[in-house]
Amino acid sequence: MAERITGHTELIGLMAYPIRHSSSPAMQNEAFAKLGLDYAYLAFEVDNDTLEDAIKGLRALRMKGSNVSMPNKTVVHKYLDKLSPAAELCGAVNTIVNDNGVLTGHITDGIGYMQSLKDNNIDVIGKKMTIVGAGGAGTAIEIQAALDGVKEMSIFNRKDEFWANAEATVKKINENTQCKATLYDLADLDKLKEEIADSYLFANATGVGMKPLEGQTYIPDKSFFRPDLIVTDVVYSPRETAMLKMAKEVGCKTMNGLGMMLFQGAAAFELWTGQQMPIEHMKEVLDIKYD
Ligand code: NAD
Repeated sequence: MAERITGHTELIGLMAYPIRHSSSPAMQNEAFAKLGLDYAYLAFEVDNDTLEDAIKGLRALRMKGSNVSMPNKTVVHKYLDKLSPAAELCGAVNTIVNDNGVLTGHITDGIGYMQSLKDNNIDVIGKKMTIVGAGGAGTAIEIQAALDGVKEMSIFNRKDEFWANAEATVKKINENTQCKATLYDLADLDKLKEEIADSYLFANATGVGMKPLEGQTYIPDKSFFRPDLIVTDVVYSPRETAMLKMAKEVGCKTMNGLGMMLFQGAAAFELWTGQQMPIEHMKEVLDIKYD
């Protein structure tokens, strides 16, 4: 790494808090090194109080861009010049690109999820999916899936602080895309079973299954799944959540969140460098294997 840094090296940041645990710096720097690109990616502890100054710094230092994570994803748009259509619809940004002083906000989480399906030979386009979650990950996946051509989407969430966001997402999808989206309360488990029954794919887009909810799932029993259903989880730590374990026991094809993590990073990498991330090399480094 030290041998790579020169007077010409372009800096890309990651602005979030907490952020020291992130695997993005290792992933992005490995990809730059593999392709011999003169970029460096560093994590900065930035929260809502210091975000405006950090973006001013990004402009002043002419950084090539940055990733943005919690708690800044839904507020950073205030300090940017433009938004991609998906970022506009999601109301969230995870990637900033600096084009000669013009800062554009993108959201690549949904792109990452859709690309990870494709990479795993799963084709949900023109079909029905059922998804649980209405936070950052859920919204990004739902908007991107609708933009990409999923035909029908049943979205479930608890009636918690994310419910209003779920309602807004369903409205945006129905008004702006060809996809027909419907929202249901996750407490209605009969309805959940019914909607999963005629779906091609079921997705968890909540943190249920990872710490502090590790070992848990809101799926009551195996009768909710059938062998030809595809079951995916945004969680990748642990690699196999209780829900994925249950789905595997039924015989479903499953996919955890590692591929989404890789491909959201790959989409950002391409926006900054104009080059494709060396995916097969990164899969080896991250030990990503599909079922
Ligand atoms: P968030 O806080 O924005 O949203 C949380 C969501 O989980 C909401 O829909 C909420 O209603 C729901 N929820 C919380 N507790 C629940 C419970 N006990 N039962 C049912 N629903 C519950 O979080 P987020 O940013 O959307 O992240 C969600 C998960 O996605 C996290 O585990 C995160 O690590 C993961 N994630 C993965 C990737 C990836 O690249 N694989 C990217 C982003 C997020």
